[in-house]
Order: sequence, then structure tokens, then C-alpha cells
Amino acid sequence: MSANHAATPEVSALAQAAAQPLAPAAELAKRFPLSASDHRASDTQRQQALDELRFGTVFSDHMAHAHWSYEAGWSQREVVPFAPLTLSPAAAVFHYGQEVFEGIKAYRHEDGSIWTFRPGYNAARLAASCRRLCLPELEHEDFVASIASLVRADNQWVPSKPGSSLYLRPFMIASEAFLGVRSSHEADYYVIASPVGPYFGDKVQAVDIWVTTSYHRAGVGGTGAAKCGGNYAASLIAQEEAYANGCKQVCFLDDVTASHIEELGGMNVFVVRADGSVVTPRLSGTILEGCTRSAIIELLKSEGTSVSEADLTLSALLDDVRSGKVTEIFACGTAAVVTPIGALKGKDFEVRLEAGPVTSHIHQRLTGIQFGKVEDEFGWMYRLA
Ligand SMILES: *Cc1c(COP(=O)(O)O)cnc(C)c1O
Repeated sequence: MSANHAATPEVSALAQAAAQPLAPAAELAKRFPLSASDHRASDTQRQQALDELRFGTVFSDHMAHAHWSYEAGWSQREVVPFAPLTLSPAAAVFHYGQEVFEGIKAYRHEDGSIWTFRPGYNAARLAASCRRLCLPELEHEDFVASIASLVRADNQWVPSKPGSSLYLRPFMIASEAFLGVRSSHEADYYVIASPVGPYFGDKVQAVDIWVTTSYHRAGVGGTGAAKCGGNYAASLIAQEEAYANGCKQVCFLDDVTASHIEELGGMNVFVVRADGSVVTPRLSGTILEGCTRSAIIELLKSEGTSVSEADLTLSALLDDVRSGKVTEIFACGTAAVVTPIGALKGKDFEVRLEAGPVTSHIHQRLTGIQFGKVEDEFGWMYRLA
């Protein structure tokens, strides 16, 4: 396998931001005062929703919101009843796709307390995505405050079934009613919340991956490193190609040489070698710098595993899987945590893999920390309620 540009990973700007201390949630939550809903779900309705968890189909009673204008900056920080939005059909987001989002979870621990994972990381990444999409940056503590206030208002929506959590979806849209092409002078930021079970169903199951050579997710100088809806819009057709070929997810190659594995539509990728070392594609500018990816790198290094960030050549990877030099490949992200890859398929190849011990160890360790069952020696967890 080619290891050009292999480098010892240093602490990235996002990981650095994640390490900054945050004020306690009870204090931050006051920044987003609650206007309580008078049509909350009944206890029975909520319980029913929490009993049959799927992904992203049911939403809690409230949402966080803040408004920004070019003249006045951020204002109207609030938590309000979850409700449809009223926007001008001329709002810039509908025409030019000026939008960014985040994904982060609230986990209930056995003692009933509610925690989240590295919120400073997501705060810094949202700000970085905003800079790329010419949207206004939200102060890191405002981001955490919006989550804290929403989760405290809707704390009963945080499920307690094993492996389940309250998925939080912060997003920002360009809301100025103006069809001229320039960055919007008005923006709205929201956080919605959805109780979720495990992303790919009940059991940790290996997923088959389609490696597309027809499409790219991102290009050099483009928005690949930002978490924006546009990247997803661009990836859907490849996902359709994956379905047509019996695969659940798609893996993209770099757009310059079309020879390096970059990532899936919404998850980063790791490769485990028979010698115990682990490799993940280096941050090329066209890869999204996942919070889970960063945590796994730190975790493995702390256990003495050799982890490198490098260009991963597809042809060499396929050879190494066939010869047994590569034993496991897994994908990772907040929604699905750690998911073993059972096959890599493309137009003229197919290799199969087993879910292995490194993948399941990382899954156990990471979810153990998130659910408060394994000591958080990294200081990743932040108490929301
Ligand atoms: C969100 C996302 C990931 C995973 O990031 P996490 O912070 O680990 O959830 C990976 N790739 C893409 C394209 C993403 O949008």
C-alpha cells in the first residue's frame, strides 16, 4: 500500500478547539431562554416514539434558534416549540445552497445524567464550515449553549435503551430574500433533536461498500472539508449507483488521480493491517475531518498502536486485502459510530472482509466512553444535564 505523505498526525485545529474548557451547561443554557411549547407530545406519544427508534424520523418538542443579520450580528437566541419554518421562497438557501450543518449526540448515562461528546470540536467545525460557505460564525460557547438549552428542555427525549441517544442536528441557512448572487445578509441557525437507535439497525453488521469511479464527492478547492448539504446533494447519485450494485454505502476516490480512497458519503474510513498498524486517509482538503476519526486516532495512539494518515491507493488496498496484509476496514462517524466494512465492490473488482477484533474493540471503547461505562481519560465528555 502506498504511504506517500505519511505523517505522524499532529493535533488539528479542531482537536485543539475541542480541548478548550467550557462553562457549565446550566450557565450556558441561559443564553438560549426557553419559550415552552404548549403542545408537547403526551407521555404516551413520547414513550411510543422512544420504544421504536429509527433514525431521524421523530423530533422532540422544541428547537433552538438564533437569527443573524449583516447589520446587527447575532440576536434572538431562544429555544422555541418545534414547528415548520416560514421563509420567503426567495430565501437564498433555496437557490444557491448556502447551508451548513453538524451532527452530535446526547447520551444518557446509567445514573440518568445526560452528556455529549466533544462539543467544542463540532463548534469549531461548524465555524470552519461557515467560513467556507460565507455564513456568519457562531461563537463556540453559543453553539454549546444552544445544545445545552435544547437538551435540558427536552431531557425526557433522551432515550435510555442501550446504544440509543438523542441525535442533535444543528444547521444554518442563508435566509435573506434576495436572488442576487452574493453571500446572504441574513442567516438563521437552528438545532433540532431526534431520538435514535443504532444507525444501521440492531446488530453491528458489516456493510458492503461500492467504490464509485463515475462520480466524486468533492474536488480540490471545493467544499469537501466543510459539512454542507451541497456535498450530500452531490453524493446522492453515487449512493443510487451503490444501491443498484447491492451496496449500502458508497466510497469516493480523490478527484485528481481517481486512485486514492477518500471517504464514504458521510463517514471516514480506517484500514487495519495484519501487523496491527492502522491507516486512515490523510486530510487532503477534500475529506471531512470527522470528530470520530480524530477520537479514534487519539484512542489508538494512547494504546500504543501505530496510526498513520496517508494516501491509500485503491489498487494496493485491494491487493493487500486479497493477500491478507489488510485484515479489517471500518467506517466511522457520529451517527453510526464504528461500522465494519464487509466488502469493497467496484466495476471490475470485489474483495470481502470480516468484521474483526480491532473494529469491535474501538466500537466498545468509544461507545463505552460515550455511555459512561468506560473511564473518559481524554476529557471528551461534557455534561449537559
Ligand atoms: C459528518 C461527516 C463525517 C463524520 O464526522 P463525525 O464528526 O465523526 O460525525 C465524515 N464524512 C463526512 C462527509 C461527513 O459529513
